[in-house]
Amino acid sequence: MLAVGDHDVSSWDLGGRPYALVRDGVTHRRGLDGGMLAKGRRWRGEVATPFRRRLDATAAAEVAEEARREAEAALRALPADAPAEAAERLRTVVAMDAAALAGDAARFREIYSPLGILPPDQYLAIVVQATDGCSWNQCRFCSLYAGVAFRVREEAEFRAHLHAVRDYLGPALPLRRSVFVGAANALCVARARLEPLLRAVGEVFPLVDAALPAAERRAALAATPGAVTGLHAFVDAWTGERKEIDEWRAYAALGLRRVYVGLETGDPALLEFLAKPGDPGDAVALVESLHAAGIAAGVIVMAGAGGRRFAAAHAERTADVLARMQLRAGDLVYVSDLLPGQNPAYARAAGDAGVEPLTGDELAAQRAALTAGLARGPAGPKLARYDLDEFVY
Ligand code: SF4
Repeated sequence: MLAVGDHDVSSWDLGGRPYALVRDGVTHRRGLDGGMLAKGRRWRGEVATPFRRRLDATAAAEVAEEARREAEAALRALPADAPAEAAERLRTVVAMDAAALAGDAARFREIYSPLGILPPDQYLAIVVQATDGCSWNQCRFCSLYAGVAFRVREEAEFRAHLHAVRDYLGPALPLRRSVFVGAANALCVARARLEPLLRAVGEVFPLVDAALPAAERRAALAATPGAVTGLHAFVDAWTGERKEIDEWRAYAALGLRRVYVGLETGDPALLEFLAKPGDPGDAVALVESLHAAGIAAGVIVMAGAGGRRFAAAHAERTADVLARMQLRAGDLVYVSDLLPGQNPAYARAAGDAGVEPLTGDELAAQRAALTAGLARGPAGPKLARYDLDEFVY
C-alpha cells in the first residue's frame, strides 16, 4: 500500500497488480481482467449523492498508470537505508506498466471462463472453476451466465486449471485466503465426479486447520504458499437438497466451509413467477443438512422481486422461511435488490402480469421485512447487502 498526500492511497497485490486505488475520495477497484469500478460520493453543497460507474479500458488504464507513476516516484525517493523489501515491492509495481497489465489480464482471460458473480465475502477468494456456467440458466431475473454452456470439467483438465491459477497468482497468493469453487452451482455435480475435484483443490491449495488459534493459523498460512482456510461454493436448493448428509460431511472433511444458496423468496408463487425451480422448503432442508455436516450457510434473498403484486407474501413468507432455517453465527444472509434490467424476460413477464415495481421507500421497507425474523447479535447470522453491480474480481 502506498499513501501519497491526504487523498491518494494505492494497493497492489504482491505481483504488482493494482486492486484498490483511492483518488480524491473515489475508490477504484480493479479486477484481474483489467475492468475497473469507480465508487464514491458527489457533493452538491451539503448534499452527497453516492455514485458508481464502470470505467472504459482507456480510463481504467490511466488510473492504474497514475498510481504506478506514484510508485516510481516513491522508489526514486526511497532513502538508502530503507528496508530492501520496500524497494523490491515498489520495483514489482513499477514493472507492471500498461503493457504488462494488459498482458496479465489477457492471461487471466485464458485461464478463466466468464466469472458471473461471487458472494461479496469471497471477492478476494482464489476462484477455481470446476464447472462452467449454470446448469439451469433460466431464472427470469438472471443473465449472469447467458450464452455460457454448462459443463463439468474432467478431473485432468481441472487439475491443469488449478495449477494454472496457482502459477498465475504466484506471489500474490497471500492476498487470498479461501477458495471459491465456481461457477454458478458447482456443487450440483454428482458425488462420484465432484469429490475427486474437491480433493484436487486441497492438493494444490492446502488447508490450514480451521480449529487452530488465530495466531497459529496466521503463521501456518504465512508458512505455506497457496494455503487457505477453506472452500466455498454456490449450490441451487433443488439439487443441494437431494444430497445426503453423509455427502456433505465428506465435503466438509475436504474443507468445504460455507455453501451459498439463492433462496430469492419464501413465496412459492413468486418463485414460480421468477422461473426458478423447486420449493422454498428445499432450501430449508438443504440448510439443515449443511448444519448437520458442520458447514455454514450463505442465503441470498431478493428485494423487489415480483413488485407490489407479490410484496406482502414475499416479505411474510421469506421471513418465515429464513426463521425456519435456524441460521446462526457463521451463517450469512445477503439481501440483493432485483435488477429488473438484467434480463428482459423479467420485464416481459412483469408487463404481462401487470407487476408494478416497488418505490424506493417500499423497497427499503421490504429489505427490512424480509429478514425481520432473524436472530440478531453474536449468536445470529451476519446480515449484509449484496449489490451485483459492485462485483469485481
Ligand atoms: S439465479 Fe442462479 S440458478 Fe438461476 S439462472 Fe442465475 S445462476 Fe442459474
